[in-house]
Amino acid sequence: MLNLFILPETNKGVRLILRRISQHVKDQNWFAVALDFVIVVAGILIAFQITVWNEVRKDSAEEQKYLTRLHSDVIDALNTSFNHAALKSKVQNSLRSTLEAFKPNSGIEKLTSQQCASVYFSHIYEAPFPSLPTVSELLSSGRFSVLGSERLRDLLAKHEQTRDGYQRFADGMLVNRIVMAAEHSDLIQIGVEFHNFSSDGSNFFDHISDDIIACDLASMRSDVRFKNNLIDNTARHHEFHRSVAAQYEQLQEIHRELDSVIGLSHGDAMP
Ligand SMILES: [Zn+2]
Repeated sequence: MLNLFILPETNKGVRLILRRISQHVKDQNWFAVALDFVIVVAGILIAFQITVWNEVRKDSAEEQKYLTRLHSDVIDALNTSFNHAALKSKVQNSLRSTLEAFKPNSGIEKLTSQQCASVYFSHIYEAPFPSLPTVSELLSSGRFSVLGSERLRDLLAKHEQTRDGYQRFADGMLVNRIVMAAEHSDLIQIGVEFHNFSSDGSNFFDHISDDIIACDLASMRSDVRFKNNLIDNTARHHEFHRSVAAQYEQLQEIHRELDSVIGLSHGDAMP
């Protein structure tokens, strides 16, 4: 609104009206004085409304820009998180079925390659918590409120909170963890191809075979220390798997809300 008086044309207009009012006062033409006041007030109100409309239009364009970038961040994070969650889920299921072999009269004679590999992987609790760079930028620049959806802002704030707590949780998981293949190298034989384990861990896990990794189940059963360590690692891995799965679900919820705000639909294309 103040800008209105900075413009030379507007200044000229205001001076003109003030001169007119002063003349009307001298002439004691009160009706004309009242009319001039109405014109001034209406002018100010219209200028104020135009400023508000411009601000709204600017914020809306900025919100769209951030929503598009945020959507791209969320898709990247979902893909990363999906791969981690898929691998952790397979390892966890295999670890549970491996523990079955340690129950009396289980009838299980031999561990499969996947079960044996899950024993190997049972100490691995590292999985990066996917970040959303656009959210970090919005928070650090104080522009977070440019996102109009309150639900989206809530979900993103929760995601940031979980991310903050995740590192402490992950560090705790590493305390006194047991590297089974090193601690019980007499029970687990690893082939050199095992080093081909890649970031697509889930695919590697599915195609693992006896010549890559093999376990001596009979000796494992008679080794109490091994059994205790396996139970400890399975419990830790269970907690870690739950955390990774929860991250994935949180990202899915953000994505659903984001799609609804933007008006996007992927069909079945997303993981
Ligand atoms: Zn989407």
